[in-house]
Amino acid sequence: MEVGFLGLGIMGKAMSMNLLKNGFKVTVWNRTLSKCNELVAHGASIGKTPAEVINKCTITIAMLSDPAAALSVVLDKDGVLEQICGGKGYIDMSTVDPETSFKINEAITSKGGRFLEAPVSGSKQPAETGQLVILAAGDKALYEAAIPAFDILGKKSFFLGQVGNGAKMKLVVNMIMGSMMNAFSEGLTLADRSGLNPHDLLDVLDLGAIANPMFKGKGPAMLQNNYSPAFPLKHQQKDMRLALALGDENSVPMPVAAASNEAFKKARSMGLGDMDFSAVFETLKVLKHSS
Ligand code: NAP
Repeated sequence: MEVGFLGLGIMGKAMSMNLLKNGFKVTVWNRTLSKCNELVAHGASIGKTPAEVINKCTITIAMLSDPAAALSVVLDKDGVLEQICGGKGYIDMSTVDPETSFKINEAITSKGGRFLEAPVSGSKQPAETGQLVILAAGDKALYEAAIPAFDILGKKSFFLGQVGNGAKMKLVVNMIMGSMMNAFSEGLTLADRSGLNPHDLLDVLDLGAIANPMFKGKGPAMLQNNYSPAFPLKHQQKDMRLALALGDENSVPMPVAAASNEAFKKARSMGLGDMDFSAVFETLKVLKHSS
């Protein structure tokens, strides 16, 4: 199978590499074109623009940072829209809000193309090992055509119905995750400041009902101030912001998520946006030093 792939950041690089290693022919594009080189060394072809990739491939996947990037790659000069047409499919796996997905869907389908949103749950490592959870919605026929690729990229795919439902599901999941990370950071700080060994807290948590892979995976690195990015903090804050907007639209009070969003904003203001989202832990250390 041949696919196009737009966006070779942390996730896009791992996902497109995975497709290549599993026998797919992949044509890649990235805004910073030099990031294509590693993929080319593994057999990928390059498209010089998103339009060129769409022209070449029947199905093209995108994995871009945020709503502005997702819209720009479709609508701007040399973008997806210039070459999309009947018989071609566009799958956006970026995490965006439902409104962005609606706009992209309208643009693609108005030219006769098919559109599927398919954001993912899972981070850098699951992307490398094909263990993502795919949250698809939109064109059912395109979903079915993409299953061979989804089977490589993920351990499970969901088809959630109409466009917007994949985006909503992804935002709910990341809203919960961001709030959990803040509670975890506060717990580690409280354990330390009240005289406990935070490593003991990790062991205790891991044996109880709130044990989870995120605490187990991130906790030891956080205690070593290691925030090497798997999921950049700026993207987690974007997801909290978009989830809070979804809460506004649906009159859902979300005081825990709102407070967590403020903590991620504080971390961004401290210059931690490109670090892993677990670096929100650092916001609590600043309080310690200033007291
Ligand atoms: P990333 O490493 O920051 O990569 C972002 C990608 O978007 C890069 O290819 C970047 O191109 C491109 N981009 C940014 N602005 C652009 C623009 N205006 N026009 C064209 N391209 C643009 O992010 P990531 O971690 O791979 O995440 C990608 C998406 O997946 C995000 O929506 C994120 O929320 C979601 N996600 C991430 C994770 C994770 O754990 N990392 C997990 C699930 C979902 P350049 O290389 O030129 O900057």
